[in-house]
Amino acid sequence: MYSSFLIKYAEIGIKGKNRYLFENALVQQIKYACKRCEGEFEVRKAEGRIYVDALGDFDYDEAVENLKTVFGISGICPMIQLEDNDFENIKKTVIDYFDKAYPDKNKTFKVFARRSRKSYPKNSMELNADIGEALLNAFSELKVDVHDPDICLYVEIREKVYIYSQIIPGPGGMPVGTNGKAMLLLSGGIDSPVAGYMISKRGVKIDAVYFHAPPYTSERAKQKVVDLAAQVARYSGPIYLHVINFTDIQLAIYEKCPHDELTIIMRRYMMRIAQTIAEETECLGLITGESIGQVASQTMHSLACTNDVCTMPVYRPCIGLDKQEIISISEKIGTYETSILPFEDCCTIFVAKHPVTKPNLSIIKRHEHNLDEVIDDLVKTALDSKETIIVKAK
Ligand code: ATP
Ligand code: MG
Repeated sequence: MYSSFLIKYAEIGIKGKNRYLFENALVQQIKYACKRCEGEFEVRKAEGRIYVDALGDFDYDEAVENLKTVFGISGICPMIQLEDNDFENIKKTVIDYFDKAYPDKNKTFKVFARRSRKSYPKNSMELNADIGEALLNAFSELKVDVHDPDICLYVEIREKVYIYSQIIPGPGGMPVGTNGKAMLLLSGGIDSPVAGYMISKRGVKIDAVYFHAPPYTSERAKQKVVDLAAQVARYSGPIYLHVINFTDIQLAIYEKCPHDELTIIMRRYMMRIAQTIAEETECLGLITGESIGQVASQTMHSLACTNDVCTMPVYRPCIGLDKQEIISISEKIGTYETSILPFEDCCTIFVAKHPVTKPNLSIIKRHEHNLDEVIDDLVKTALDSKETIIVKAK
C-alpha cells in the first residue's frame, strides 16, 4: 500500500549552518541502506525533509528493516503520496488508507493537517475538521480525541499530498561520516562488535584491525571476524578490516616474558600496532570492547597498563556495562549468534593459568625490555604483511 517513507531526524536538526552537511551524510547513508533492498529507490531532500520513494515494486519489510540501520533517523513514516491535491480525492484516499492501515476501527484519532501554500482553498483548521468528519462518517466506531488519540493522522498538502500516521522508531544517533573516523580492535567476541556499533552511532566512520595467530587460530576464526564486521557494516558503512599476523610476536612474548603478564604485554602490543595503522589511515582514536572488571586484563590496573602505550584517545563504550547489557545490544544488532560460535581467539591460546590482576606498570615495562632485540623487526614484519579486506554489509 505504501510507496514512500518520510524520514524523521532528531539531533541533526539542531546543527545550525552545518545542517546541510548532516542531511547530506544522512541521504548518503540512506542510499547505502536502500542498495541492499530489492527494487529501486529515490532518496530526496525537499522542503527541509528527507523522503525515500520506491520507484516500482519493493519489499516493504525489507526496506523498513534496512532503514532501521541508518544512524540519524529517529523515525520512519510509511506514507501515501498523492500528485493530485483535489480535496474530494484527498478525502477518498484518506478513508481508503485508514481502512487498510487499521482493520480494527475501535480507536480514537486526531487529524493534523497542514498546507504549505496559503493559496489552497481550505486552511488547516478546515482541513482538520473536514477530514475528521469524513472519517467519522465512514467508520462508525471511530472517535475523535484531541488530547490523547490512539492515532495521529497527518495530512500535508505540499508539492504533493502526503498522508501518514505511523512512526516506526529509527536507531537515533548521528549519520555516519559526520564525525571523523576511528579504529576498532575487533575480535571474535561479543563486546568489540557492540563497541564499534556504539561509536559508529555517534556519526563516526570505522575501520577495524584483527589480530590472528595462524596456525594456532584457524581460517574459520578469521572468517567469523569478517562476518561480524559485515554485520556491523550494516550500520557503519563499509569497513576496512586490517588483519595482522600476530603469531611471531606472541611466541616471542611467550618465550621471553613472565607468563602471568602475557596477556597484558600482548594487549600493549595490540594497542601499539592498532595505533600505528590508525595514524596511517587518518583515524582519530581507537575503540575497544573493554568493560571494567570483566576479565583479569580489564581491571583498572590492567587497563592503566594497556592504556599507557596509547597516545591517541581510546574509546571504550562498553566500559560501564554489565555483560548482560552488552549481550542485549549484540542481540539487537544481530552479532550475538556469530560472536558465540566457538572458535579459538589469539588471546585464549597463550593465556596464563593465573594472569596478574594488578599488574605493576614499571615491572611490565622492565619485562618488555626482554623483547628489545627482536620486537621492532617483528612489529615491522607484522605491519608490512597486513592484509586489508574491504567488508561490506551483508
Ligand atoms: P570481546 O568480546 O570483544 O572479544 P573480550 O571480553 O574477549 O572482548 P578481551 O579478549 O580481553 O575481552 O579483549 C578486550 C578487547 O581487546 C576486545 O574487546 C577487543 O577490542 C580487543 N581485542 C582482543 N582480542 C583481539 C584480537 N584478536 N584482535 C583485535 N582486537 C582484539
Ligand atoms: Mg576476546
